[in-house]
Amino acid sequence: MRIILMGPPGVGKGSEAELLIKSFQIPHISTGDIFRELYKDRTTVGKIAKEYISRGELVPDDITNEIVRHRLSQPDVKKGFLFDGYPRNIEQAKALDEILAKKGCKLDAVINIDAPEEQIVERISGRRVCSTCGAVYHIHSKKPQVEGICDLDGGQLIQRNDDMPETVQRRLRIYKDQTAPVIGYYQEKGAIVYIDGTSTIAHTHAQVMKALGELN
Ligand code: ADP
Repeated sequence: MRIILMGPPGVGKGSEAELLIKSFQIPHISTGDIFRELYKDRTTVGKIAKEYISRGELVPDDITNEIVRHRLSQPDVKKGFLFDGYPRNIEQAKALDEILAKKGCKLDAVINIDAPEEQIVERISGRRVCSTCGAVYHIHSKKPQVEGICDLDGGQLIQRNDDMPETVQRRLRIYKDQTAPVIGYYQEKGAIVYIDGTSTIAHTHAQVMKALGELN
């Protein structure tokens, strides 16, 4: 299965991605996670990316596309992949088309999860992530067993600095201006599935699995 997962920041892409990669046993390719890892490893690219990320801006396309090209050259993607957070503008969508065409493979589905802006802002402001493994929680809807502590590795839960209110507003604006048009791009190719992301994680996943089943 080769899937792209789209939707505004905070709509629940990350949670849905975790479930999908388990269902299909495919690697999860989150450009946001790759950038955060590159920064953690103190690489030059990671430091450059961090500047853009903390301002809530997109990392430049040449850097992002190169990272994706490199990731898609690794052997584990032979069984498929799930993109989360990429492509984020039309240029990246075109770059991905080219990379995939060169590899002779096609996408199976583009899934777009959506929810109203007020709900998205509420979700982002309550989001907490594990400072060591990156697992995602929410102060109301996905509480850890012990407050402030990751269930998986006992790491401390923190708020990402790009989840702070002003940065969130900028990310939502960039999403509307640059990322939402990518939906139209895939719509024209007839490859998109629309999912209502206003309900629970489990319900969203059930809808996604149903829609994917109907594609085959
Ligand atoms: P979210 O989906 O909640 O915005 P991500 O982890 O996907 O979170 O992305 C965090 C930040 O990483 C983005 O705001 C952006 O600065 C950067 N980023 C991630 N993916 C891309 C991409 N495809 N192109 C450019 N920048 C990206």
